[in-house]
Amino acid sequence: MQQFAVFGHPIKHSQSPRIHRLFAQQTGIALSYEAMLAPLDDFPAFAMAFFQQGGRGANVTTPFKEQAWQMADVLTPRARLAGAVNTLHWQNARLLGDNTDGVGLVSDLHRLAMIGDASRVLLLGAGGAARGVILPLLEQGCRIALANRTHARAQALAAAFQAQGAIEALPYDALGTHTFDLIINATASGLQGELPPLPRSIIRPDCACYDMFYRAGATPFLAWVQQQGAVRLADGFGMLVAQAAHAFSLWHGIMPQIAPVLIQLRQEPVG
Ligand code: NDP
Repeated sequence: MQQFAVFGHPIKHSQSPRIHRLFAQQTGIALSYEAMLAPLDDFPAFAMAFFQQGGRGANVTTPFKEQAWQMADVLTPRARLAGAVNTLHWQNARLLGDNTDGVGLVSDLHRLAMIGDASRVLLLGAGGAARGVILPLLEQGCRIALANRTHARAQALAAAFQAQGAIEALPYDALGTHTFDLIINATASGLQGELPPLPRSIIRPDCACYDMFYRAGATPFLAWVQQQGAVRLADGFGMLVAQAAHAFSLWHGIMPQIAPVLIQLRQEPVG
């Protein structure tokens, strides 16, 4: 039986084992996939022990994505630019690092018909999640405005991707005069029950709003934008399932169907 895992800290509420087992069932592949609590003080040794004992692949979540990036022997181009790895693959005694978060987001935005050619996108946040999705959004032809609580981080991130497409950093208090087709919340504000400091005036009925955060019920961001009149809304659960599908495809060479798994999991409680 091929062994797979997701490493994180905390990890108890991870949906990844359930998602990968459903993909395995759907594609007829025999595997084991476990959630593993990795130690905060020695992630690389923990991860290497898993692979040396027969592990074939692992997903990596908070707070280890940057450490996984550092320990990979080979990086895919999208992982190299993202500066973070969410998928590890043990191949011929070498560790390949990939990042499927961005492609997962873009595939979910297509499923929801929330992006098109040259969409004007406002991306909120400048942490690992924001960084991982910039390149795939630029590759779609999107023009990105980046806003972050600590503006200097947004400026540094925009500068790092300047050569890849149209991206600029804007302070939150300068957003009021701009119009966007899509606003993506990639901040961790939802985890604290807070909101990014957006001016109300940029939320218009024709602007789609996507929160990468998800939980049972509406997220604080989605509840707020709905109050301001937004009607096209989605949380990041579809992104979670889509990034998992791309990791599954890397490991097994077969792309599972996302929609049936999404429908099934939506009927089950989210942690
Ligand atoms: P990080 O800790 O790396 O980054 C946090 C970012 O959020 C920073 O830009 C920070 O700003 C900003 N922020 C934090 N609190 C607030 C606040 N109260 N108001 C405004 N901005 C705030 O987190 P990640 O980038 O890893 O994750 C961000 C979100 O994306 C999380 O909610 C996570 O669950 C979600 N996510 C979802 C995925 C999915 O598959 N659906 C995949 C990956 C992440 P500053 O720089 O000023 O500190």
